[in-house]
Amino acid sequence: MVDEDVPVLIVGGSLVGLSTAVFLGHHGVPSLVLERHRGTAIHPRAALVNQRTMETYRAVGLEEEIEEAAAREFVQNGAIVSVDNLGGNELDWYFRFINEGVEDLSPSARIFITQIGLEPVLLRAAERLGTRIQYASEAASVDQDADGVTVVVRPRDDGPERTVRARYLVAADGAHSPIRERLGIRQLGHGSFSDSITIYFKADVRRLMGDRNLSVVYVFGPHLQGFFRFSIDLQAGFLVVNSTVDGNGARSVRIGEDMSAPTCIGYVREALGDPDLPVEIENVQRWSASAEYAERLREGRVFVAGDAAHVMPPTGGFGGNCGVQDGYDLAWKLAYVLDGRADEGLLATYDAERNSVGAFTTEQAYTRYVLRLDPALGKENLMPVVHEATIELGYRHRSAAIVAGPADDDAMWEDPHEPSGRPGFRAPHVAVTVGGVDRSTLDLFGRGFVVLAAPDGEDWCAAARAVGPSLGVTVDAYRIGAEVVGAAGMFETAYGTGPAGAVLVRPDGFVSWRASAVHADPEGELAGALGAALGGRTAIAARG
Ligand SMILES: Cc1cc2nc3c(=O)[nH]c(=O)nc-3n(C[C@H](O)[C@H](O)[C@H](O)COP(=O)(O)OP(=O)(O)OC[C@H]3O[C@@H](n4cnc5c(N)ncnc54)[C@H](O)[C@@H]3O)c2cc1C
Repeated sequence: MVDEDVPVLIVGGSLVGLSTAVFLGHHGVPSLVLERHRGTAIHPRAALVNQRTMETYRAVGLEEEIEEAAAREFVQNGAIVSVDNLGGNELDWYFRFINEGVEDLSPSARIFITQIGLEPVLLRAAERLGTRIQYASEAASVDQDADGVTVVVRPRDDGPERTVRARYLVAADGAHSPIRERLGIRQLGHGSFSDSITIYFKADVRRLMGDRNLSVVYVFGPHLQGFFRFSIDLQAGFLVVNSTVDGNGARSVRIGEDMSAPTCIGYVREALGDPDLPVEIENVQRWSASAEYAERLREGRVFVAGDAAHVMPPTGGFGGNCGVQDGYDLAWKLAYVLDGRADEGLLATYDAERNSVGAFTTEQAYTRYVLRLDPALGKENLMPVVHEATIELGYRHRSAAIVAGPADDDAMWEDPHEPSGRPGFRAPHVAVTVGGVDRSTLDLFGRGFVVLAAPDGEDWCAAARAVGPSLGVTVDAYRIGAEVVGAAGMFETAYGTGPAGAVLVRPDGFVSWRASAVHADPEGELAGALGAALGGRTAIAARG
């Protein structure tokens, strides 16, 4: 017997599960989230929220609230450095301040906020949008058939088991994803390379920090490798220890085998560079540093997202961000398929688009781990370092929903400082005014499809107004110099349209088609592109 029916069930109510619930809610889809824990995060973990993630939160109206919560936790825009110890030598500056050189790429800034600060904002937003979160509840079994997924929900405390039926299930159940394992989806990549620990401690580090604003401090000392983050008052923080080297030069990555207080106090004092500083250990967490990605992200009606899809070391601060962006890609697709605006075929594009991005991002985090913390792992087969901004904003989605141009070089990423506007890339930010108000082109995207046409591209706008209704979806049309005003030539350069071309932008802000000139049959051309973006839909199918 089924106790409850929902359109989408999300298993895992941490960063990625909650974000996905918000994105679904933004598209009008109420979901049910099951979370084994009793509430939102109690450990800080992720803190660097990148520009692309902030853009997704901006699109759902949460940017300001998140920035306010972030300001309560950290002095923003700090540096990322490596040292031999905090009071000792600075070895390398990865960032002088974290938004250095990326200010013009986006209307949104990189921020620092822990999962303790962020998840309650996401939870409130998800609930406002109709999500129900069931804490202390575990998905005990998952079975699917042609029409849906059946999940037995087991309460952590006493109480009867319940059966929930969903049209689709999102497994945001973390690195060890029991659902991914039950589905037999293999993990690829580098496996686990350190039994690491995170030591949460209290200590007054004001003197050692001086007047520096350091967001992340990598410690590459002779005996200890890891990284620090500190609280805003510099009276507490955490130290991750990934590896140690003993007096004979022998390296150990089995740190978790000794988590005793004296050992942890010793690690903290050594990494701070003060052997006598009073240090109080609050908590120690053991975790496995690994770099792995699932061989596929979908099995029937079940989609794998977040750490369940790709787990990477924290070097770079990419893991949680990549997971949030999985949710952003998936949410609009589920929403459109659920209410019949798109065909089921669209759901296949989630794996096609996100799997390669997850693998790329994982390799980049692994490369940074080896270079910053453990060169002994070997530099031979490392993917070369790609700039952070490219990883965050310059990755490409490739799938049947994206119509690549004839002369495309198939590049999987590009520098967002020189965006091409090619199909599959994030629609670039261009400063514009809309109705006299300062906006970003990004503010035009979020729910429906958008055609953005160059100044001489009026035909494309007219085509958009005709084609949307014939395929049963909303397509807003804006022409540069008419509805939207920007600096001369900026749009055409960023989007590569020429003076009379246009782009079709999906609800997730990715370009799915581009024309660089006028066309003999703009309606036919655009209908083909929109149909592909809707999972292979034709005007006849949409009317039927
Ligand atoms: C020290 C550290 C620092 C980091 N810093 C950054 C950073 O700066 N930036 C960044 O982007 N990332 C960072 N990360 C990575 C980031 O924390 C993770 O990528 C992110 O938390 C993954 O979120 P998730 O929701 O996919 O998985 P998780 O946070 O692991 O959540 C999975 C949830 O699923 C629940 N669950 C599992 N099975 C079931 C079940 N059967 N039923 C119900 N619930 C279930 C679990 O209880 C859990 O709450 C860091 C990680 C660490 C360890």
